[in-house]
Amino acid sequence: MKVLAIESSAHTFGIAIVNEKGRFLADERIIYHTKSGGIVPQEAAKVFETEKHSLLKKTLEKAKMSLEEIDIIGVTAGPGLPPCLLQGVSLAKEIAKKYNKKIIPVNHIRAHLSIGTLLTKAKDPLFLFVSGANTQLITKEKDTYYILGETLDTGLGNALDKFARNIDLGEGPLYGPKIEEYAKKGRYIPLTYSVKGMDVAFSGIVTQATNLYKKGAKKEDLCYSMQETIFAMLTEITERAMAFTGKKELLLIGGVAANKRLTAMLDIMCKERKAACRAVPMYYAGDQAAMIAWQAMQEKENAKNPEEIDINPRWRVNQKL
Ligand code: AMP
Ligand code: MG
Repeated sequence: MKVLAIESSAHTFGIAIVNEKGRFLADERIIYHTKSGGIVPQEAAKVFETEKHSLLKKTLEKAKMSLEEIDIIGVTAGPGLPPCLLQGVSLAKEIAKKYNKKIIPVNHIRAHLSIGTLLTKAKDPLFLFVSGANTQLITKEKDTYYILGETLDTGLGNALDKFARNIDLGEGPLYGPKIEEYAKKGRYIPLTYSVKGMDVAFSGIVTQATNLYKKGAKKEDLCYSMQETIFAMLTEITERAMAFTGKKELLLIGGVAANKRLTAMLDIMCKERKAACRAVPMYYAGDQAAMIAWQAMQEKENAKNPEEIDINPRWRVNQKL
């Protein structure tokens, strides 16, 4: 069985093909960039619209397949930015109608969790999901997802990106690697530490760091201090969730999982608890369609006719569509 899937929830338009064994036959993506500033959803959608058909052609060429040989289409239905989600869904519908296929609407977050599990061979982990828009501690018990803690305001990646824009770190919209580079040469400035139980908040710290920059603090010091403070907060709530659930495995997923300092801190905490700390391989940490294809494969029974498919921009991981 072969699933072709499309991801377009934010900055990345991806198309991938997977077989039932979890082998990716193709995994193509384009990423929307900005000279400065964050994602403008309508602009990203325009880029996706222009590029998506050539990306589909490229994906099929890579897999040496035709659309007739695909069994089912998977597509991200949410959560995400509506104009971007609609681009993926409209391509999925176009293919499904033309080739008489069914569509599986996929929850983007469940897909992040599933590809992490597949690639790290984790068995029963606590998930720390840290992406642009999301920051959540999640467990999965049988087929039910539970959110144990989360950000009370902005997602971790978005907080880092906003901070980077405020301190003039250059081209965007994804600044994580740049912050990590600057942080290597920085020294610590105390910032507000904001943890409430298993929840965290980031916007106050972003404002505080921005104000310090305006008063002359060095970019390197601010990047270092942001990382140290925010990642310590995450490590604290993750440890609390591990103690609460008794889990012996942590699985870090989402774009910010690419950060080496975050993984190092979590690794120390896990070692002290005699737990395993795993992170999704970097190439699959951010958004891509391989994870959507694999999640669609897990939910084959949810296949629908194209006219039944719609987007759900605020679809939480623990909710039914
Ligand atoms: P996602 O939404 O899962 O695609 O993740 C995107 C987010 O990950 C963006 O906010 C990036 O800035 C962030 N990110 C990517 N690489 C890193 C890194 N090395 N350190 C921190 N954040 C990162
Ligand atoms: Mg994502």
